[in-house]
Amino acid sequence: MAVLDILTYPNERLREVSEEVDHFSDPELQLYIDDLIETMHAGPACVGVAAPQTGNPIRLLIMDCSLARKPPEGNHGQLVVFNPVIIKWSGMDVAREGCLSLPDYTGNVMRAVDVTVQFQDRHGEEQVVTMTDFEARVIQHEMDHLEGKLFTDRIVSRKADLFRRKVRSPKKRKPDPNSPAKNTDQQPSPS
Ligand SMILES: [Zn+2]
Repeated sequence: MAVLDILTYPNERLREVSEEVDHFSDPELQLYIDDLIETMHAGPACVGVAAPQTGNPIRLLIMDCSLARKPPEGNHGQLVVFNPVIIKWSGMDVAREGCLSLPDYTGNVMRAVDVTVQFQDRHGEEQVVTMTDFEARVIQHEMDHLEGKLFTDRIVSRKADLFRRKVRSPKKRKPDPNSPAKNTDQQPSPS
């Protein structure tokens, strides 16, 4: 298993639309899933990562909201998500997000509050999962990566809603549990 390199903005490969996956029994693919999980665990307070962020434009994302400093109640833990489709959604709210591929910025992003997602798991089995709030936000953020979209594409006003991360001196750094800016696939704060 290996920790994979993460592409950062403005790398054009982050703009690619990813391909559907259907070869689930491929041992290479199964090893790659484990590397992606390892990569997620390597990021402090990181709760998700999408394959295109590692330069692999396939419709795969990994997420695990139980890794958040304050795990949202009723979260589904680690999910390996292939070819996801949102089949139902409701509500909209704004919260702060960050992204491993945009390490210097966070932003206020409008997303659906509740989503029901149909996808295939690592064995190609059909799954349907309903998520809410933080977990719903994480999967929407990761699914955007499969479309070549970054959270900055969803920001209404760059002036009002885009924030440069403050570089804190190491000794002053105090983890700030679960701040909305803390992470979709983000590094601590969070990607
Ligand atoms: Zn991201």
